[in-house]
Amino acid sequence: MAEAFESVPFAAYEAGVAALAARVPAELGWHARVALDLAWTWQPGGEAVFRAIEPRLWLEVGRNPVRLLATASRACLERVARDRAQLERAEALARTLDAQRMRASPSASGTNAVAYFCAEFALHASLPIYGGGLGVLAGDLLKQASDACLPVVGVGLLYRRGYFRQRVDPDGRQHEFWSAFPKQLLPIVPVHDATGAPCTIVVPLRGHDVRARVWCAQVGRVPLYLLDADVAENDALERWITAQLYVADPLFRLLQYAMLGLGGVRALRAVGVEPAAIHLNEGHPALAAIELAREDLGRGAPFAEAMERVRARVVFTTHTPVAAGNEHYDDGVVEEVLRSSAIPIGEVLALGRGADGRFGMTELALRVSRSVNAVSARHGEVARAMWRGVARDDAPIRHVTNGVHLPTWMAPPMRALLARHLGEGWEARAADPGTWAPLEGIPDEELWGVRERLRRALVDFVRERSVLDRLARGEAIDYVEAAAQSFDPGVLTIGFARRVAAYKRLHLLIHDRERALGLLGGARPIQVVLAGKAHPRDEPAKDLIREIFTLKHDPVVGRRVVFLEDYDVSMAQVLVAGCDVWVNLPRPPQEACGTSGMKAALNGGLNLAVLDGWWAEACDGANGWAIRSPEGLDERAQDARDAGDLYDLLECEIVPLFHARDEGGIPRAWVARVRASLRTIGPRFCAARMLDDYATGVWREG
Ligand SMILES: *Cc1c(COP(=O)(O)O)cnc(C)c1O
Repeated sequence: MAEAFESVPFAAYEAGVAALAARVPAELGWHARVALDLAWTWQPGGEAVFRAIEPRLWLEVGRNPVRLLATASRACLERVARDRAQLERAEALARTLDAQRMRASPSASGTNAVAYFCAEFALHASLPIYGGGLGVLAGDLLKQASDACLPVVGVGLLYRRGYFRQRVDPDGRQHEFWSAFPKQLLPIVPVHDATGAPCTIVVPLRGHDVRARVWCAQVGRVPLYLLDADVAENDALERWITAQLYVADPLFRLLQYAMLGLGGVRALRAVGVEPAAIHLNEGHPALAAIELAREDLGRGAPFAEAMERVRARVVFTTHTPVAAGNEHYDDGVVEEVLRSSAIPIGEVLALGRGADGRFGMTELALRVSRSVNAVSARHGEVARAMWRGVARDDAPIRHVTNGVHLPTWMAPPMRALLARHLGEGWEARAADPGTWAPLEGIPDEELWGVRERLRRALVDFVRERSVLDRLARGEAIDYVEAAAQSFDPGVLTIGFARRVAAYKRLHLLIHDRERALGLLGGARPIQVVLAGKAHPRDEPAKDLIREIFTLKHDPVVGRRVVFLEDYDVSMAQVLVAGCDVWVNLPRPPQEACGTSGMKAALNGGLNLAVLDGWWAEACDGANGWAIRSPEGLDERAQDARDAGDLYDLLECEIVPLFHARDEGGIPRAWVARVRASLRTIGPRFCAARMLDDYATGVWREG
């Protein structure tokens, strides 16, 4: 990490803590320290420190500790100030986080930082600057980098209106709304320069000098720098650049990506970080490479030479195996955005030229990077075929399969169970399969006990949320109460929750209505939890939600199937933990990786999924169930076949296995699968393994 940071460790964080602490009773200083380090979110007992202050308010403020401290009444805070036990818990947690933040880097030197650029980061529900899987991956990577003491800094945008919020009407039509978050109440801190003035950068965009403030989200040891164009010097349109994720207009979207790429590098210079490597997570930030070359170009270096020097420092992860997902822009749009930037636009256009002659960020990223990777073995094959002729021979597309941050996604009861059996410090050794060997010695009763507890917590959540969602939709009272009365903590629970997109084939669940109703209403019923947002302009995806809702008039569906609105990371934590079976039905080979199934596996959930993305390399026949989905059929034939496999597996294998109980009520064969799933998936699909792969295979070379 750069000198500026070592001389004043975590200066922005410390200043933010001082400002927050000044607004609460002096005794709550430890609470302020914890509130501004997002590492509290993955510490055992972290949430309890804040929830105890005012449990109802904690949920009302979206589990945002800064907002909690700012909105709790003075009387409430003073009550906490007199509560020794509460203060001691906060102090202990703050000291733990301080110690973790201050650990020396194993390879500390001035210039070894990796700057990880991404258009979205999902760290916690209280910082809603993400849309879905891409953001979750980026957030998990930063958290793991902190845990592993790797010198990573994040770079992103501070969207003050975030991603859209979802409501669904009684016919299943999705409605979107946005709400702005008061920035001073987000768990982030403003960065200041050496004179104490707010750290601001200037990016020439569309002929104007657009300004952005730099904020920092402290993710344990890892700072995430966030650019915010909502400053007084910018006009209304410029301020909108960082208003919300993935706006519709292509020119505007390119302005966002230019702010991220060009502005991100300027922000790093402003805070004194000279990164050894720039990691482009997806193509959006690719202009960062051009900004890196700018000084060289200013000294008169030829463009090709400057870019070769830059390439030694840039690496790229591609995530999109669907051609349409890799956006293209007309030359005029690129020229308009960059016209005042002193960047040689013709050369940039040539570097980003795609097969159809138009400019693409993925093409640009492929040509400016020394290392390129896809996100699963299967996706690697697809990406190599897809980018033949664009990817450079000296940077062939390899793969690093995604992984998930274990402390974030493994629910506390499972974490506590494994901590008892896997030994001191096991989470730091999670990427080693040997760490998981003691799973064999955990009694079935204990493992099953945790599964029952997690399912019960999910059922409690579903009962409450389904009533609120249905009331807000204006449904009849009978229907409002149906799921709350019928969701059963003893019933086999199936989950399907992720972004709704046509290729994810939510509709396969109801492809054969008779069989679906038979599974829901039979003697050994199942219950189903659904959630997910469709992109606002993705009409086919929105139609899929409507299609699911056409079944709701069957009484058994009202009781046994819920669609929970407004999926986000905190809902995801409850769902992936509580479901017995996690379903994924992508049309292969369109699932680049998929990560929610990994999260389910960490909690003892079993995957039932099409062999695509990560599941193609994870499924061994004993740790879940596979739908083979042969390619080459037409789409309708493929759907019919895959739906048939889905129902066959549920009817003939999954439901009977779940009910094969011994005299103690334990489904021994089921628990054996849970154990096999944890043992085989835990070490291979955790973020610790992913980060090892990046650190040794991608970041280190060059
Ligand atoms: C993990 C996660 C995703 C990614 O789910 P996939 O099944 O990989 O598509 C999306 N959204 C949220 C909120 C998540 O937590």
